[in-house]
Amino acid sequence: MRVMKFGGTSVGDAARMRRVIELIEAAARHERVCLVASAVTGVTNLLVDATQRVAAGEDVSPFTDRFRSVHEQIVADLDGVLRAGDSDLLLGVIQTLTREFERLLQGVSLLREAPPLAIARVSSLGERASCAILAEIARARGLEPLLLDPSEYVIATGDPLEAVPDMERVRERWAPIRNGRERLILLPGFFAGDGDGRIVLLGRGGSDWSAAIAAAALDAALCEIWTDVDGIYSADPRLVPDAFPVSETSFEEAMELSYFGAKVLHPKTIQPARERGIPVAVRNSFAPEKPGTLVKNGAAPSPHGVRGLTLLRDVVLLNLTGSGMAGIPGVASRAFGALGEAGISAILISQASSECAISICVARKDGARAVIVLDKAFEAERRLTRVDDIEMRTGLAILSVVGDGMRTRVGSAGTFFDALAQIAVNVVAIAQGSNERSISAVIQEHDGERALRHAHHRFFGTPEALDLFVFGVGGVGTKLLHQIAAQRERLRARGVEVRITGIANSKAMVLDEKGLDPSFARDALTGPSARPVNLAQVAEFAAKQKLVTPVFVDCTANAELALRYGTVMDAGLHVVTANKIANSSSSAMYRELRRIARHKQRRFLYETNVGAGLPVIWTLQKLVNTGDRVVRIEGVLSGSMSYLMGRLEEGALMSHAVREAKEKGFTEPDPRDDLSGRDVARKVLILARETGIDIEPEQVVVEGVLPREIMEQGDVEEFFDALPKLDAEFAARMKDLKSKGQTLRFVGTIEEGRASVGLRAVDVDHPLSSIKGGENALAFLTEHYSPRPMVIRGYGAGAEVTAAGVLSDILSLADWGGA
Ligand code: ADP
Ligand code: ASP
Ligand code: MG
Repeated sequence: MRVMKFGGTSVGDAARMRRVIELIEAAARHERVCLVASAVTGVTNLLVDATQRVAAGEDVSPFTDRFRSVHEQIVADLDGVLRAGDSDLLLGVIQTLTREFERLLQGVSLLREAPPLAIARVSSLGERASCAILAEIARARGLEPLLLDPSEYVIATGDPLEAVPDMERVRERWAPIRNGRERLILLPGFFAGDGDGRIVLLGRGGSDWSAAIAAAALDAALCEIWTDVDGIYSADPRLVPDAFPVSETSFEEAMELSYFGAKVLHPKTIQPARERGIPVAVRNSFAPEKPGTLVKNGAAPSPHGVRGLTLLRDVVLLNLTGSGMAGIPGVASRAFGALGEAGISAILISQASSECAISICVARKDGARAVIVLDKAFEAERRLTRVDDIEMRTGLAILSVVGDGMRTRVGSAGTFFDALAQIAVNVVAIAQGSNERSISAVIQEHDGERALRHAHHRFFGTPEALDLFVFGVGGVGTKLLHQIAAQRERLRARGVEVRITGIANSKAMVLDEKGLDPSFARDALTGPSARPVNLAQVAEFAAKQKLVTPVFVDCTANAELALRYGTVMDAGLHVVTANKIANSSSSAMYRELRRIARHKQRRFLYETNVGAGLPVIWTLQKLVNTGDRVVRIEGVLSGSMSYLMGRLEEGALMSHAVREAKEKGFTEPDPRDDLSGRDVARKVLILARETGIDIEPEQVVVEGVLPREIMEQGDVEEFFDALPKLDAEFAARMKDLKSKGQTLRFVGTIEEGRASVGLRAVDVDHPLSSIKGGENALAFLTEHYSPRPMVIRGYGAGAEVTAAGVLSDILSLADWGGA
């Protein structure tokens, strides 16, 4: 005997119902089959909703019309499938059920209230209708189903909306069928009877439980739960795109997973099956060729130690605290006793070892009642101020990790909480199941999906997504996109998925949750999905998509954008920037950005602010963090000045060298922007701040290369015309220095709390004396690196190396730290 249960989507329309009967027919060739079915998808919601709305005064007919039309449509679509005359018969049944619905709603309307028994009876109509149709399809194919009435065969007691089967009586009632010969038995799911003819419910999603009850009552060899996904996944596939179906689980794991929110199985399903050792298979009715998941005794342990993760939403946390609680015997059991009596189930508890605080999670719908119940239970102690008033926290969710393997494997809890810390998710309470099969963290509901995805990535090594919002598609931005396009496969193979989720230039912006192809992302800016640039929308989008690692990437030199980093981090995005403006503005702003980054636990990365792709900031931070003391930093920090000074040393005239540098693209369009030293001053300022010096931009002493009267010549051409006036003076200076074994370099210096920029004569054995041709170099003289300084040298400008530096910052946000 095999039980086969089909959920709402699996019987969602006429074609799907036919597929169900085909699957049943195939199975029934080999063994007896009990088909358990849910209501047509959406119908139970309609029925429940109707009772509430009509109780609140709404009209009856829209609900009854909808109920009738959904089912009549299915019957109409079965035209040619059913036997002659059966369609009319079925339409008659639907008419009768609709009339019953109407009468019940009229009662509710009169009472202005929907009593539980009325809700139960109304709710049963969905399964009664779907099963009536399925029975006719089966008959048309020559099967003779025995249609059972659950109110007679599934006897259950307790809360009429969440009744519990009395298995002894159930087995008794099923005895004739268990021992009978019918090939096909058909049982509507979800509802039961109280033994006195009244209809009661097994709780929402309860058809799974009906199936397990039938399996236990029939001594079935297998209980199949056919649904709309490929089995039990490592996490809800709707929330975690990389979740995968697991091939088998133990009964205990399946129970724990469903208890903590894996909706694929009703949490009570496993119990009756486990008691009789009946394996439960979860399979996809849309892909019956797939193996599905088998829940059984002796399931092979998960190679990951952990079987799956769940997220249970809509919970509240009740805090029971009080200075006198330690002295009160049995606080926890009294609390549960009181909740239990009120029919409220505690989903999770966590008790501080001091016994001064107990936290209890209950479903949101039970929250307000639970507060009243607990306040009452501890009334006496509250009066004596030994126990405080119950405090309720709302807007929470429970994230759980489940696996038999956790008992024997150390480190699961570490991985779990580390994953949450990595993405700055605050943990409100923690609980570990007494069987060590699950660990749960109570977190803010709005963090739920991000946390679930990231924890899933950490446990199962599934790809980790970095969602980039790239601002600026000039030189650096474009190269960045090229590099991402070229590296993508390699990165994916290493577990990091880099997505271009947003792109913008000064005029337009495109946001795309699936990610744009980096090779064509720029084109999107002139395409139909382009919209005006709006940072608030980026933040909104990142929040709505529940992105785990959204990164704002600034490849512009735009001041306005730089001033918004604080807001961007505040909205939960990391910031990676090649733009120096934010770090080189007021020290108040510099401090504020770091404060927000710390507070929001977002990263603010700007390695390319100094020396482009060279690891300058990183090195300096490491030196400072390891307690080294910086004595002096000297650097050639401008590619154009490096080129220029090199040429002067080789004997070129100043006016020629500047023109050459401009022609080779080493300088800005107006070379005075480089010669003024302002850009180097910004870099020196940033480096000074990294060493801990609190300094304002105007405190950097800047001496430009050229005298004022030359710098202030009108336009670029006039400037070039005036330049030769300096040729002789510079040539003489170079010659003089050479004779003294020195050369001239444009150097940024930080020493004794001061920062300066200007021309310096350096000895030939100075590390900066050989820096020319566009190279950059920095010499860090520190307590540890003394008397020879640590030197970093290489090309420190250009779109390619800058983009590589930006990419390296981006990849450092991945879990693997870019290693
Ligand atoms: P049915 O109508 O067949 O009973 P349900 O909607 O009740 O189907 O349950 C199936 C749904 O459960 C899936 O579509 C999926 O979104 C959700 N689900 C949640 N957690 C899991 C999980 N761990 N594995 C598979 N499905 C899950
Ligand atoms: N139809 C019921 C519900 O939607 C039972 C079920 O589908 O399992 O809750
Ligand atoms: Mg279900």
